[in-house]
Amino acid sequence: MAEDSPDKHVIDIFMMSVKCGNCDGYQTVLKFQKHPDKNVYIYECENEICDPNVTRTIVEVPREVDNSTKRAEELPYYTAEPEPEEP
Ligand SMILES: [Zn+2]
Repeated sequence: MAEDSPDKHVIDIFMMSVKCGNCDGYQTVLKFQKHPDKNVYIYECENEICDPNVTRTIVEVPREVDNSTKRAEELPYYTAEPEPEEP
């Protein structure tokens, strides 16, 4: 497919670490959402220290460079929600 185009950038979010600036711990993906133009990964701290409403991290990846979609869909936190239809 696109393997012979070295200029094509892809992002593998499973290769990244998301660290919390509050508790200094690593956050984990708890939710994955597909939008028409981007994929959204929601990270939260899994501890008693941080209030997710304050420390939650939302990572947006443009769909065309997201290399993690298939794997994200296989994980248990993913529930296939209908894509929002905007007029
Ligand atoms: Zn934290």
